[in-house]
Amino acid sequence: MDKQVTDYYQVLGVPRDADEAAIKNAYHKLAMKWHPDRNDSPEAEDKFKEIATAYAILKDPNKRARYDTQGMEGVAHFTPDDLFGGLDMGDLFGDMGFGFGGSSIFDRMFGGGRRAKQPTHGQDLRIRVEVPLALIHTGGRQKINASHPVSCDACHGYGTADGKAPALCKACNGSGRQAVSHNEKRGEQTVQIQQITVCPACGGKGTQIEDPCKTCGGYGKVEKQEALNITIPAGIEDGTVLRIPGHGLPADKPELPPGDLHVSVFSQPDPRFQRRGADLWRQETIEAVDAILGSEIEVPTIDGMVKVKIPAGTQPDEILRLKGKGLARYQGPAPGDLNLRIIVHIPEDLSEEDRKKFEEIRVSGSK
Ligand SMILES: [Zn+2]
Ligand SMILES: [Zn+2]
Repeated sequence: MDKQVTDYYQVLGVPRDADEAAIKNAYHKLAMKWHPDRNDSPEAEDKFKEIATAYAILKDPNKRARYDTQGMEGVAHFTPDDLFGGLDMGDLFGDMGFGFGGSSIFDRMFGGGRRAKQPTHGQDLRIRVEVPLALIHTGGRQKINASHPVSCDACHGYGTADGKAPALCKACNGSGRQAVSHNEKRGEQTVQIQQITVCPACGGKGTQIEDPCKTCGGYGKVEKQEALNITIPAGIEDGTVLRIPGHGLPADKPELPPGDLHVSVFSQPDPRFQRRGADLWRQETIEAVDAILGSEIEVPTIDGMVKVKIPAGTQPDEILRLKGKGLARYQGPAPGDLNLRIIVHIPEDLSEEDRKKFEEIRVSGSK
């Protein structure tokens, strides 16, 4: 179905003879990474579609056999129903913690053909949080503060003092609209112009609160500073979205559940390192004489200080790679590297004695 895809084994990163468990495992890892609820990047949805399609084909022995023998031609005619009909959503999404959001996003991507429904919960709320590199390296709990309105407990979200659904607006009888008419002169004639406006008594809501809730002033919602402890997976990539069900905005109707909180995770700027994926980069300035003769320096890593040997004859801008001294890799086996870009400091103000020595080197070096 996706014309750009040429090899579904490559899409999942499995060998041609991979067994079902390996295929499922590869799919789950990739799906976790690329699920649009968790991944902010623009290509996430296409990528996820590709992964799900590859999985649907390779998981099913018949479809896989067709694909193995006939290639894309053998499977190109499959509709989303053919592909995914035999798989239940639990298999595709169930143990990934996406909850009910899984199947709806699936419908959207593959055109499930369902019409937009009335909102069944409040809107999702999106916040951005910066996490120190050290925590990204180890993974762990991060406290976040999300300030947003929540349903008022005192009135159950109705905004009424008695906490019950408010009465219909007497001015508009619940329609939320008001017809206003006025007379206008058109030449010799006077015509009556009727205009429909929002009911000023209820602001269009159709209900009126006689005795508003003291806590929220009739608004039905109160601003809440919510402190949450979220789990940061080790090695999480910048821009990954973590979804926290039920901590989004309250629904307009008090009886409906609130939306979800989407936390976009980014690494906090660190004066010691620059992050590029799992790799860390850092500049080290050394003296010219140390670059020429070699030396040993102490550098910070994410796990503490280490001694690094500077080989004799190190060039300006040379990169020294400390393998495995970078960040933990998200669900990956080996951590990234720490790359040291070597800046060579040339002395500016030489003492007379040092200048003579360099002159001697120049004379002997030019021989
Ligand atoms: Zn009204
Ligand atoms: Zn209230």
